[in-house]
Amino acid sequence: MNGKLQIKTCPTCGSNQIRFVVRDIVRMYKGLTYTVPKVGFYDCPNCGEKVYERETMLKIEFHSPAYHKAEALVEA
Ligand SMILES: [Zn+2]
Repeated sequence: MNGKLQIKTCPTCGSNQIRFVVRDIVRMYKGLTYTVPKVGFYDCPNCGEKVYERETMLKIEFHSPAYHKAEALVEA
Protein backbone atom coordinates (compact mmCIF):
# COMPACT_ATOMS: atom_id res chain seq x y z
CA MET A 1 0.00 0.00 0.00
CA ASN A 2 3.04 2.29 0.20
CA GLY A 3 2.79 5.24 -2.14
CA LYS A 4 -0.93 4.79 -2.56
CA LEU A 5 -3.05 7.88 -2.33
CA GLN A 6 -5.11 7.86 0.83
CA ILE A 7 -7.92 10.36 0.80
CA LYS A 8 -10.27 10.68 3.73
CA THR A 9 -11.74 14.08 3.00
CA CYS A 10 -12.55 15.80 -0.28
CA PRO A 11 -9.86 18.35 -1.24
CA THR A 12 -12.53 20.59 -2.77
CA CYS A 13 -15.38 20.66 -0.24
CA GLY A 14 -13.93 18.86 2.78
CA SER A 15 -16.69 16.23 2.82
CA ASN A 16 -15.82 12.89 4.40
CA GLN A 17 -18.24 11.19 2.01
CA ILE A 18 -15.53 10.86 -0.64
CA ARG A 19 -14.82 7.24 -1.47
CA PHE A 20 -12.80 5.07 -3.82
CA VAL A 21 -14.77 3.63 -6.72
CA VAL A 22 -13.91 1.61 -9.82
CA ARG A 23 -15.83 2.41 -12.96
CA ASP A 24 -15.57 2.49 -16.72
CA ILE A 25 -15.24 6.15 -17.56
CA VAL A 26 -16.08 7.88 -20.82
CA ARG A 27 -13.98 10.80 -21.93
CA MET A 28 -14.22 13.04 -24.95
CA TYR A 29 -11.49 14.28 -27.23
CA LYS A 30 -12.25 16.53 -30.19
CA GLY A 31 -15.78 15.17 -30.50
CA LEU A 32 -14.63 11.55 -30.21
CA THR A 33 -15.65 9.63 -27.14
CA TYR A 34 -13.51 6.86 -25.77
CA THR A 35 -13.95 4.54 -22.84
CA VAL A 36 -11.31 3.73 -20.28
CA PRO A 37 -12.28 0.48 -18.52
CA LYS A 38 -12.05 -0.19 -14.80
CA VAL A 39 -10.69 3.14 -13.66
CA GLY A 40 -10.21 3.49 -9.93
CA PHE A 41 -10.61 6.97 -8.50
CA TYR A 42 -11.97 8.90 -5.55
CA ASP A 43 -15.45 10.26 -6.11
CA CYS A 44 -17.10 12.87 -3.90
CA PRO A 45 -20.90 12.58 -3.93
CA ASN A 46 -21.18 15.95 -2.23
CA CYS A 47 -19.56 18.19 -4.84
CA GLY A 48 -18.78 15.80 -7.70
CA GLU A 49 -15.02 16.10 -7.32
CA LYS A 50 -13.01 13.25 -8.80
CA VAL A 51 -9.44 12.58 -7.74
CA TYR A 52 -7.24 10.37 -9.87
CA GLU A 53 -3.96 8.81 -8.89
CA ARG A 54 -0.97 9.56 -11.07
CA GLU A 55 -0.84 6.08 -12.58
CA THR A 56 -4.55 6.32 -13.28
CA MET A 57 -3.99 9.55 -15.19
CA LEU A 58 -1.36 7.76 -17.27
CA LYS A 59 -3.82 4.94 -17.97
CA ILE A 60 -6.46 7.43 -19.09
CA GLU A 61 -3.96 9.21 -21.32
CA PHE A 62 -2.92 5.89 -22.82
CA HIS A 63 -6.51 5.30 -23.97
CA SER A 64 -6.83 8.79 -25.39
CA PRO A 65 -6.79 9.30 -29.17
CA ALA A 66 -4.52 12.27 -28.49
CA TYR A 67 -1.93 9.98 -26.91
CA HIS A 68 -1.85 7.61 -29.86
CA LYS A 69 -1.58 10.48 -32.31
CA ALA A 70 1.44 11.81 -30.44
CA GLU A 71 2.99 8.36 -30.33
CA ALA A 72 2.62 7.96 -34.11
CA LEU A 73 4.38 11.26 -34.66
CA VAL A 74 7.27 10.18 -32.45
CA GLU A 75 7.70 6.95 -34.38
CA ALA A 76 7.53 8.68 -37.77
ZN1 LIG B 1 -16.35 17.29 -2.41
